[in-house]
Amino acid sequence: MTAHGNPANLSGPFVPAGQRAALVIDVDAIAGNVARLTEVAGPAQVMAVVKADAYGHGLLPSARAARAGGATWLGVALLEEALALRADGDVDPILAWLGVPGDAWSDAVAANIDIGVSTLWQLDEIAPAAVTSGRPARIQLKLDTGLSRNGATVAEWPELVGKVAALQAEGVVDVVGIWSHFVLADSPSSDTVAQQLRVFDEGVEFARTQGVTPQLRHIANSAATFALPHARYELVRPGIAVYGLSPGGEVGPARELGIRPAMTLAARLAHAKQVPAGQGVSYGHEYVTTTAANLGLVPLGYADGIPRRAGNVGPLLGAGARRVIAGRVCMDQFVVDFGSDGIAAGDEVVLFGDGDGDGDAPTADDWAVATGTINYEIVTRVGPRVPRRYVGTAGVDRTVGGSRGAVD
Ligand SMILES: *Cc1c(COP(=O)(O)O)cnc(C)c1O
Repeated sequence: MTAHGNPANLSGPFVPAGQRAALVIDVDAIAGNVARLTEVAGPAQVMAVVKADAYGHGLLPSARAARAGGATWLGVALLEEALALRADGDVDPILAWLGVPGDAWSDAVAANIDIGVSTLWQLDEIAPAAVTSGRPARIQLKLDTGLSRNGATVAEWPELVGKVAALQAEGVVDVVGIWSHFVLADSPSSDTVAQQLRVFDEGVEFARTQGVTPQLRHIANSAATFALPHARYELVRPGIAVYGLSPGGEVGPARELGIRPAMTLAARLAHAKQVPAGQGVSYGHEYVTTTAANLGLVPLGYADGIPRRAGNVGPLLGAGARRVIAGRVCMDQFVVDFGSDGIAAGDEVVLFGDGDGDGDAPTADDWAVATGTINYEIVTRVGPRVPRRYVGTAGVDRTVGGSRGAVD
């Protein structure tokens, strides 16, 4: 149990009988994490970021749980993600920020979705969509304060703001927010943080002088929500922390932040066999047994999102102890050396979990360290072939549009 009342309600077995693997999502963990973020950020509101299928956790059940936990806003990259939320019956504020020319702006305006606006061409496409829809487009202007990703540069800002002020006067757009994104929020001591906040404040001030006075300013992702109180403004935009994972860097581990991982990846051994010492294992024989060994075959591979780089380093819990993948990860499977420990086909192994309620299972952080990546990539890459299983009750009772959260 964490220090903040978000107790683990998960324990194995995770994989239903007859199934090779399961990606188990605890929606109560998501709701609890959002409640924790609300407490940390208050009085600022929380926009739970649910882009990329809610960081691999499943868009709709995760979004419902985030709303149940107190997210007054949801944030997504793509318009189609926002439209999917509306089709699920979500009527509360949603921001989508990554559009391309010719995108479904009319649908966005009709669905009352806030649109992140970085450039003039977006205004040129959104304005007619708003006129046709007969309602102002809700927009949020993005200033590039140094990340050099999207957002208007400081040089482009005056022209963009000028155009917006004119469209606002015509009733074509409603400027709900001004926002930006950090380069290095997980290092609060970085010079970039202060520099970006200065550029941001100046950009907001300039907009005010032009009559563009949004209700919301926001720049804080998960790391900044925890580590940079002065960067919370009226709204924070956490993503990874919603799913109970630490944004890393100087921010501290999940447990210290009062959040809990919502995702567990587990599988059942497809095969168990005994081999002698000196036996090479998997393609290329990059692993060789040092003793007579029980080998277990795990039916998950790189096609399921197991990094190929996890060969000989990826951790898991099996037969009561931590193990490491033996040899190369294949497309559909990999092998584990259990030494002299007894195993049988059908036994469960846990690749990663909440690091708490399930014995000594590794976490997504352990996988990130082992494979040279970040926890974000580990959770977002689990493939669609792995069956999803939802546990918990948060947001499940919301029955809208004939659909229901699938929970057991
Ligand atoms: C993904 C994303 C976030 C969330 O970032 P985390 O580090 O996951 O908290 C916030 N804002 C924008 C613009 C993003 O792209």
